[in-house]
Amino acid sequence: MTSQTAGGPLVQLTGVNKWFGDLHVLQDIDLGIDRGEVVVVIGPSGSGKSTLCRTINRLESIQQGEISIDGEKLPEEGKALARLRSDVGMVFQSFNLFAHKTILQNVTLAPTRVRRQSKAQAEQRARELLERVGVSAQADKYPAQLSGGQQQRVAIARALAMDPKVMLFDEPTSALDPEMINEVLDVMVGLARDGMTMIVVTHEMGFARKAANRVVFMDGGRIVEAADPETFFTAPRSDRARDFLSKIL
Ligand code: ADP
Ligand code: MG
Repeated sequence: MTSQTAGGPLVQLTGVNKWFGDLHVLQDIDLGIDRGEVVVVIGPSGSGKSTLCRTINRLESIQQGEISIDGEKLPEEGKALARLRSDVGMVFQSFNLFAHKTILQNVTLAPTRVRRQSKAQAEQRARELLERVGVSAQADKYPAQLSGGQQQRVAIARALAMDPKVMLFDEPTSALDPEMINEVLDVMVGLARDGMTMIVVTHEMGFARKAANRVVFMDGGRIVEAADPETFFTAPRSDRARDFLSKIL
């Protein structure tokens, strides 16, 4: 199956189980994410949200089950893994920019090294992406010269530079001062509107209401409940979701 013709969900997790030693951190996870779909993952601390994200690009291995991206099963290692992994863009809570490289270099590094793009080609695309996330004026600065919100927007541009099929965001605004949260969320809402497939771990319920097609609630390594945001926020079915919402809303 080629990526152009692959039907079905873009990301599919089937019967995924993972343990850290004795800790059964992901339990029987079945989750399909369609092209262009935005899934917000919420749940208490320690429920397995980050681990779920990390298994999707094999930063963590799984012991049981299957994960496929665009119809291709995620391989364990090797070149095929590197290629599939580059289909998955990831943005973390900590921005993880390269401190000794300029903003422009941060964005061009992977496309030139991994994708073998020419410097000129990569720079042109990087400038477009920096413009899109609203930090084009900072292109020649170093990360430490930028605010946290700007750095996180650069991290998004850097992930987009690899033309990922899906973007994973793991609490992208949790480390930001409150006044910078919206500038990052606005970029993410824009991406969602442009049709990017996204998995977003966040407790920003405004974002979920604005951009999510589906909210997935995790607790204790399981998907306890999944629904559209309106249904989930107004009429959660499980006691655990109701209890969680009463604490964060
Ligand atoms: P969340 O992102 O929902 O807060 P995590 O996926 O980070 O949850 O963690 C789920 C559980 O797995 C927690 O109990 C955490 O302590 C544990 N855990 C996470 N990473 C590791 C690891 N590398 N080794 C052992 N336990 C881990
Ligand atoms: Mg986490």
